[in-house]
Amino acid sequence: MRTSGLEVRTRQTQGRETPSPVGRKTGVVSTMAGTKALLTLENFINGKFVPCSSYIDSYDPSTGEVYCRVPDSGNEEIEAAVEAARAAFPGWSARSPQERSQVLHRLADLLEKSLEDLAQAESRDQGKTITLARTMDIPRSVQNFRFFASSILHHTSECTHMDHVGCLHYTLRAPVGIAGLISPWNLPLYLLTWKVAPAIAAGNTVIAKPSELTSVTAWMMCKLLETAGVPPGVVNIVFGTGPKVGEALVSHPEVPLISFTGSQPTAERIAQLSAPHCKKLSLELGGKNPAIIFEDANLEECIPTTVRSSFANQGEICLCTSRIFVQKSIYGEFLKKFVAATRMWKVGIPSDPSASMGALISKAHLEKVRSYVKKARAEGARILCGEGVDTLSLPPKNQAGYFMLPTVITDIKDESCCMKEEIFGPVTCVVPFDSEEEVIQRANSVKYGLAATVWSSNVGRVHRVAKKLQSGLVWTNCWLIRELNLPFGGMKSSGIGREGAKDSYEFFTEVKTITIKH
Ligand code: NAD
Repeated sequence: MRTSGLEVRTRQTQGRETPSPVGRKTGVVSTMAGTKALLTLENFINGKFVPCSSYIDSYDPSTGEVYCRVPDSGNEEIEAAVEAARAAFPGWSARSPQERSQVLHRLADLLEKSLEDLAQAESRDQGKTITLARTMDIPRSVQNFRFFASSILHHTSECTHMDHVGCLHYTLRAPVGIAGLISPWNLPLYLLTWKVAPAIAAGNTVIAKPSELTSVTAWMMCKLLETAGVPPGVVNIVFGTGPKVGEALVSHPEVPLISFTGSQPTAERIAQLSAPHCKKLSLELGGKNPAIIFEDANLEECIPTTVRSSFANQGEICLCTSRIFVQKSIYGEFLKKFVAATRMWKVGIPSDPSASMGALISKAHLEKVRSYVKKARAEGARILCGEGVDTLSLPPKNQAGYFMLPTVITDIKDESCCMKEEIFGPVTCVVPFDSEEEVIQRANSVKYGLAATVWSSNVGRVHRVAKKLQSGLVWTNCWLIRELNLPFGGMKSSGIGREGAKDSYEFFTEVKTITIKH
């Protein structure tokens, strides 16, 4: 197999150093834990890999073993990154959109050449299947750079005349400055690049903080920045925990903008810390996404898609379906076929190309997800397949991994925490409904409003229901087909702001209205 030079290797010597495959510049340092070597990441500040004074362990979700050490950065690293980003800003922001676009295209090409190495690393670090990493996460990360490399070339500004007072008005947009970017663990490189690409395309410099649970692919991307032509200080990546380095970034007075994707409680904390500085905030948060299945739905398409929308990436996508409302006349048929299709959704080790689902992100998260199933059972709900019903067989070396079977719950009340709270795992609830009005009201009865799917062959109904759903995104007769030009984001507790070609451009720039009297 051809390699890109981005392979993640560790040194395995007894006190004797062997050269890293890509040289000192790669940021690999050697660490010994007995005879076991751990991958050790470094921060990337001002175009250089910088070691940290302390580290945190990162686990391989498929074995439960520590395999990597992530810098435990804090104020000191944020100060260094701010200094670098501040110094780089005048030069980078003065470049033309065309020049910046070329750099983004080069980075996209380099990431694409490293697709296999990045996919392997993402799958190992996150627990997702290698197939998903190869077909979704890394291709989309490449596309994020290509997309914003192109869209940055096509923005225009507004201009109006007031002839009666002899004035011409127009708007100018300028990058905001240093952008703070905080991303979660479920789609690590995908969501990080969805922020870095529009931020730097618009002329900002950035300090990004990936999740401490999944930092490896961000660190690998840093190895490509110099070759792509990204000047030192334009992209700085600091690793570590939310409360320590995340808060240091959010609180820094010289970082006027925070783009955050993650959970609602963290967003609350970020909003509090940002308030004294009136920071620009974009908050992309969780969901409790309904699927509404009418009796005229095409079940041949609906059932496999709804299995996928419930369990893709172990159910760890903010857009995953977790409440399935099925019209009463087809409820029995749907349930039978849906459970049968769920049982075919194969749980396997992430490197197995035939697996549909890998391991959950952490032991704590696995326990949290399982606790919801336990609560549902205690409330009298029925668990039709998965957790506690079927058995999962795993190779001996994966038995301490964070695996669980896709689980379908029914006979559950809308008031149950399983129907109200974001579980963010492979658990979905199926309940019947009678009428259109009723199901809209029930679908809207949670605090979240991120995504919904509607299944019906009645065009009029599809439009009516889509309009009434309190949801930033509505997919009808499909799921997860994304048009990056259009706004992405949620209402209610699912977030503030939207991302997309125009929306991200507006967020990552400040607008100014200029009036000229002639
Ligand atoms: P999280 O909120 O725990 O962490 C997200 C990021 O914030 C991580 O990098 C974390 O280190 C950092 N962080 C944590 N505490 C912080 C603090 N006090 N200050 C600053 N930063 C802090 O979320 P998670 O568990 O990593 O991700 C899962 C959540 O993300 C789910 O709720 C999911 O729905 C949501 N999500 C939303 C979208 C979307 O686009 N709407 C996409 C993916 C995930």
